[in-house]
Amino acid sequence: MTAGILAGKTALIFGVANRRSIAWGIAQALAGAGATLGFTYQGERIEAGVRELAQTVSSPLVTPCDVTSDADLDRVFAEADKEFDGLDILIHAVAFAPREELEGRFVDTKRASFALALDISAYSLTAMVKRAEPLMEKRGGGSVVTLTYLGGERAVPNYNVMGVAKAALDASVRYLAMDLGQKAIRVNAISAGPVRTVSGRSISGFTVMEEHYEKRSPMRRNIDVSEVGQTALFLASPMATGITGEIIHVDAGYHAIGF
Ligand code: NAP
Repeated sequence: MTAGILAGKTALIFGVANRRSIAWGIAQALAGAGATLGFTYQGERIEAGVRELAQTVSSPLVTPCDVTSDADLDRVFAEADKEFDGLDILIHAVAFAPREELEGRFVDTKRASFALALDISAYSLTAMVKRAEPLMEKRGGGSVVTLTYLGGERAVPNYNVMGVAKAALDASVRYLAMDLGQKAIRVNAISAGPVRTVSGRSISGFTVMEEHYEKRSPMRRNIDVSEVGQTALFLASPMATGITGEIIHVDAGYHAIGF
């Protein structure tokens, strides 16, 4: 149905760690729709795995990037411009907080952990969009999609500093949308329900969270990563040209209920 809808489009994807990553679910949806994909990875530890995955979608660009490094980001976007001559789609699926901060009381969050979580999980979006802007202008516009979670809108046990980072990320989506809308560059977020990834499982009580969604969400189930992929494809596609500054919940309706 959507085959070829992104033919001729290029996308740069941050946040594939392995085949369970949400970014990989999105990559598969975009590749299935005909987009050409570039990938970044953080560190040698996961390089081989990411290269292997990238090969399966014939990606011409796989390059390292620590999103806390301006030099890395400058290089990555220069490489993308060289390879793609502009950019149509940017996927930001990166987040981090020290594991010990993802349990217990938020009030105990250390200053250094707060700064690190906000830098990697929220500021990195602005740092990327700043560099994507000239590349997307070359294409007459573009679509940026980031990943957020309900813990930025409500207090969720153990999500703690990551919730505060997601609140900053959600606000960044709106401000970036305001800045770039006139250039037809759209910025949106997908708020996903729990997905069993490395980051997801680092949150204390993740299994309880999954069970709760299964019991309580309007659809009485958890979501599948392919559902996040399809929503990202929609946001990246010409079907969503009127949508920016939006947070779409792909969570089987969990966000809509109060009890
Ligand atoms: P994941 O597979 O662990 O992906 C997280 C990615 O962030 C990894 O590739 C990780 O690389 C990368 N990263 C961390 N620090 C980085 C840095 N300094 N520079 C570059 N990359 C860095 O987990 P995921 O669940 O797919 O997470 C993707 C996004 O979805 C995150 O924003 C997450 O908060 C969001 N999300 C997840 C869920 C869920 O339940 N899983 C729900 C809603 C939203 P390394 O592995 O090398 O550190």
